[in-house]
Amino acid sequence: MTTYRIAAIPGDGIGGEVITAGVEVLAALAEKDGGFNLDVQSFPWGADYYLEHGQMMPAGGLDTLKGFDAIYFGSAGDPRIPDHITLWQLRLNICQGFGQYANVRPTRVLPGVKSPLAGIGPGDFDWVIVRENSEGEYAGIGGRAHQNFPQEVGMDVSVFTRSGVERIHRFAFELARTRPRKLLTMVTKSNAQRHGMVMWDEIFDNVKADYPDVQTDKMLVDAMTTRMVLDPKSLDTIVATNLHADILSDLAAALSGSMGIAPTANLRPEKDFPSMFEPIHGSAFDIMGQGIANPIGAFWSASMMLEDLGEKPAAARLMAAIERVTAAADVLPKDLGGEATTRQVTDAVIEALRSAND
Ligand code: ATP
Repeated sequence: MTTYRIAAIPGDGIGGEVITAGVEVLAALAEKDGGFNLDVQSFPWGADYYLEHGQMMPAGGLDTLKGFDAIYFGSAGDPRIPDHITLWQLRLNICQGFGQYANVRPTRVLPGVKSPLAGIGPGDFDWVIVRENSEGEYAGIGGRAHQNFPQEVGMDVSVFTRSGVERIHRFAFELARTRPRKLLTMVTKSNAQRHGMVMWDEIFDNVKADYPDVQTDKMLVDAMTTRMVLDPKSLDTIVATNLHADILSDLAAALSGSMGIAPTANLRPEKDFPSMFEPIHGSAFDIMGQGIANPIGAFWSASMMLEDLGEKPAAARLMAAIERVTAAADVLPKDLGGEATTRQVTDAVIEALRSAND
């Protein structure tokens, strides 16, 4: 029997609550499946660790994680520490340190969940946003000079490399090809950003020639926000830069019913380093410790993790259990209009897994 080694990093805020719930659900799934084991080791990295040690994770943290098959991550962010420190020293350190260049964010309205869009329900849209996850606006290049003087300057430089852009476009085409509609929308801002973004567009057109079976279109990021709201059924697979996709996927999550549902995978397709799976929401300090965080984003992320590990039937079983619970609509968390606690939603999903006949 295969045993997968999973590094769990609950992180900050509600991260601990949803990752604990996710680990419980994964254990129930492994027990039901009987074909694999999960060896989960938890790491207490994040804001509390920072306040004690002056860094979000230890210096040799990446070396420790390297030996795992996958990373299951909660969230990083704490009002006591500037956001750019929590983000860069933990999540981005792992994403960039392991070359997890493809960030995949599926969005759809689950059965029983209400989209804020009038007339849109389950089955009406099914998107996958592919976010470039290693460079672009998150390259970390820039600086500040003359601090606190009137002439102070602050610069963030977006970096687009031919190899980085080509590999994410190819990844998006390969993914679009596996989906029923074979439709890929490329998001850009090459009217205003006339260097890196123009190269982004050109490389997309070059790569497109290798995928004649995939239909494509191109949107400026501003117009894309309106299309997602006004014509959601017209979209399928979407590829965008690090920053654009970050913004669009929060909008996508809200349109699918709540930030609490949406999952994401930070993939290292070559598999020479572990990939990382996490709900897209942040630490949500406003609801931390109340036991009401929606764990579904963490469960869906766990399903993506199993799929990437090659356990496709177990991944599908977990999604089916989540959808049975949302469809029944009697155990929905607060953000989905219900009254259920994290504990109750977790128990309902575990019960749905155990009672499934497959
Ligand atoms: P960060 O700064 O770490 O990104 P944040 O608190 O600013 O986090 P999010 O956590 O992404 O932002 O979410 C915004 C709001 O959405 C939260 O304040 C919370 O009210 C709600 N929310 C997010 N995730 C969940 C969840 N899993 N369950 C319930 N509500 C959630």
